[in-house]
Amino acid sequence: MIRFDAVTKRYPGGHEALSNASFEIASGEMVFLSGHSGAGKSTLLKLIAAIERPTLGTVTVNSQNVGKMRRAAIPYLRRNIGLIFQDHKLLFDRSVMQNVLLPLQIAGFPRHEAAGRARAALDKVGLLKREKANPITLSGGEQQRLCIARAVVSRPSLVLADEPTGNLDADYARDIMDMFKAFNQVGVTLVIASHDENAISAYGSRVIHLEHGALLS
Ligand code: ADP
Ligand code: ADP
Repeated sequence: MIRFDAVTKRYPGGHEALSNASFEIASGEMVFLSGHSGAGKSTLLKLIAAIERPTLGTVTVNSQNVGKMRRAAIPYLRRNIGLIFQDHKLLFDRSVMQNVLLPLQIAGFPRHEAAGRARAALDKVGLLKREKANPITLSGGEQQRLCIARAVVSRPSLVLADEPTGNLDADYARDIMDMFKAFNQVGVTLVIASHDENAISAYGSRVIHLEHGALLS
C-alpha cells in the first residue's frame, strides 16, 4: 500500500529530516514509527499524505506516485486517509458534532447515516455528552479525541496518526489504542508515530525506527 524508495526530505534551510529511507507497508498492517523528537516521524507521515513532497526518491501510495501528484488530485488521495496530526485544525465556529459530520457530508453520505456514524464515533472517544459544545471549550485531551473521531468517521482504509495519545490520560490512551487495533482487525492499515517505546512494545506490532532522519530498523 505504501512504498518509499530512497526518499530524502530536506526542508528549506538545508536540514535533512529524512535520509534515503526505503521501506514498504502492506495493506492491512499496523506499524509504529518510533524515534526521538526530531527523528523525522512527522515528516514521514506528511510525505505519505502529500502534505510534504520528497526532495529525492519516490513515495508511492496505492500505486500512485504521491510526491509528483497534481495539486488537484490530492483531496481525492486524502479522502481515503484518516489524518490524526498534532495541529488538529478543528473548526471552532461549529459544534463538536458538526466537526465530525463534516467529512461525511463532503463524502456525500445520506443525512441519517451520517448522523448515526458520527454519534458512534463520538461515543467511541467518550465525547457524545459534549456533542453540542464548541470545541474551543474542550480540554486538550478532549480536542485530541475529537480529532480521532473526525479522522475515522468515514472509515478510511489508511489511518496516519502522529502521537495520537500524546496528551491523553492512560485510560483514554488505552481505549484509543484498542480502537486502532479493532480497525486493524477489520483490515484498516495504520501507521502510528510515537516516541513512547513502552506503549509500542505492548502492542507487538511491527516498528520502523528512525534516528536523525535515518531508518535504522
Ligand atoms: P518527529 O516527528 O520525529 O519529531 P519531524 O519530522 O517533525 O520529527 O522533524 C524532523 C526534523 O525536521 C527536525 O529537525 C525538525 O526540526 C525539522 N523540520 C520539521 N518540519 C520542518 C519544517 N517545516 N521546516 C524546517 N525544518 C523542519
Ligand atoms: P456501531 O457502534 O454503530 O456499530 P462501529 O462500532 O462500527 O459503529 O463504529 C464506530 C465508529 O468507529 C464509526 O463511526 C466509525 O467511524 C469507526 N469505525 C468503525 N469501523 C471502522 C473501520 N473499519 N475503519 C475506520 N473507522 C471505523
